[in-house]
Amino acid sequence: MGVARFSLFKIASSHLHRMHHPSALRQMSFASGLQNSTIFRSQGLIGGQWVAAHDGIWNFFRFNPSTGEIIADVPFMGRRETNDAISSAYQAFNSWSKLTAAERSKYLRKWYDLIMSHKEELGQLITLEQGKPLKEALGEVSYGASFIEFFAEEAKQVYGDIIPATLADRRLFVLKQPVGVVGAITPWNFPLAMITRKVGPALACGCTVVVKPSELTPLTALAAAELALQAGIPPGVLNVVMGNASDIGDALLASPQVRKITFTGSTAVGKKLMAGAAGTVKRISLELGGNAPCIVFDDADLDVAVKGAIAAKFRNSGQTCVCANRVIVQEGIYEKFAEAFSKAVQNLQVGDGFTEGVAQGPLINEAAVQKVESFLQDALSKGAKVILGGKRHSLGMTFYEPTVVTDVKSDMLLAREEVFGPVAPLLRFKTEEEAICIANDTNAGLAAYIFTNNVQRTWRVSEALEYGLVGVNEGIISTEVAPFGGVKQSGLGREGSKYGIDEYLELKYVCLGDMNRK
Ligand code: ADP
Repeated sequence: MGVARFSLFKIASSHLHRMHHPSALRQMSFASGLQNSTIFRSQGLIGGQWVAAHDGIWNFFRFNPSTGEIIADVPFMGRRETNDAISSAYQAFNSWSKLTAAERSKYLRKWYDLIMSHKEELGQLITLEQGKPLKEALGEVSYGASFIEFFAEEAKQVYGDIIPATLADRRLFVLKQPVGVVGAITPWNFPLAMITRKVGPALACGCTVVVKPSELTPLTALAAAELALQAGIPPGVLNVVMGNASDIGDALLASPQVRKITFTGSTAVGKKLMAGAAGTVKRISLELGGNAPCIVFDDADLDVAVKGAIAAKFRNSGQTCVCANRVIVQEGIYEKFAEAFSKAVQNLQVGDGFTEGVAQGPLINEAAVQKVESFLQDALSKGAKVILGGKRHSLGMTFYEPTVVTDVKSDMLLAREEVFGPVAPLLRFKTEEEAICIANDTNAGLAAYIFTNNVQRTWRVSEALEYGLVGVNEGIISTEVAPFGGVKQSGLGREGSKYGIDEYLELKYVCLGDMNRK
């Protein structure tokens, strides 16, 4: 993550008049169709009620990043609404946590079924408010839903332990219990999946949740919450508030009733939340920014490496925290790779996410484009060369040309921080040791990718990389069944898989004494 925040009023004035896109009409029909859909919600959800902000007037507009079209206005909530949501979640915890695992599992399964039966509408909503190509958006719906399905099953696998006692008259037990109310703060790049990845395990083991989606993409979150209600998930178990991010965050941090914060977003905000959680000693999981290396060795299969690097770099126009941020290529294959890679990047069709065949949608907003421009400017001023793209796309708005840059060095911003856009910087290396050294020379440690056909190297390098996830000859590796998360400053904790539910569980040791007393 890592796009600078911006003023709502600034985008309002700069986007209001723009409706001149060729595909604007098509989107308008999607937008008006969706607005009539049963899953379209534009208010907050507190205690099972759809509510406006307390003061009623602080609505803010949501825009389609591709056209600037207004798609909804949403209440601008703050501390007061967040405290109400926390109270509802706290109250609901009493009964939700006492249901049997099988009962909670059934609710989650129903929710999963409803998400999948609304796949098209949810996918369109994601494209409309986030911009990614519809095919990717539909992929996100399946991926997002998979966490609900997976954790519906995991709900029934939360086993405790019996520990062999050290004294004959005692029995020692370990219980696993839900931590309590969870505050979940999520980003805009996966408006559905980043929520389900947190809410799935939380609800499965008996926690209740207050979700704060990104203000840039609240509609998908609200639609998912509507489906949770339709699935019969009781009022207060899942609440959604949005508006003033720092006020909502502060209210979640300050409340002793909130026992856990789970966050996906920028490293800067993650650090703030970690510090803020200290006041009430909350559990915390953080999934923060990455700086993923994608290492291509001389012995890689060129086609596999090109395909994998493109998938790892250009998904969601480069706006994911596992996107390859540095393509590090061995000198023997460098020229061949650069040529084949650029050719493939050139073929990526840029355009509105609703247009058939488009692989690259817009960036999320103007600030995101400016960030890409400033990183590129820094690289060019230090000797890097653009071999493809390198400027805003002729479509205007927030479209940027898929770009390949060579001669990138470790001191350039492009190599040090997440660009979060469609720019692939190529770096050159000689030896395996050097590649590992370049790859690990960062505070981030989320995803890394390697391309090689040498099995020994695969193991050696995978073990040496200081990263939470490693893709070998594969550019897309996330799945609900595997643990996702980073090391170093990329975060704490894991999401998905059998390990993901532990983040929402407390261990309780119970010592039963005096077994022999009559
Ligand atoms: P990005 O820069 O990519 O938007 P952010 O970390 O700013 O990443 O955003 C991720 C989530 O964190 C969003 O839901 C955003 O509203 C929220 N957020 C931003 N600032 C704060 C804050 N001070 N406290 C709590 N949440 C915040």
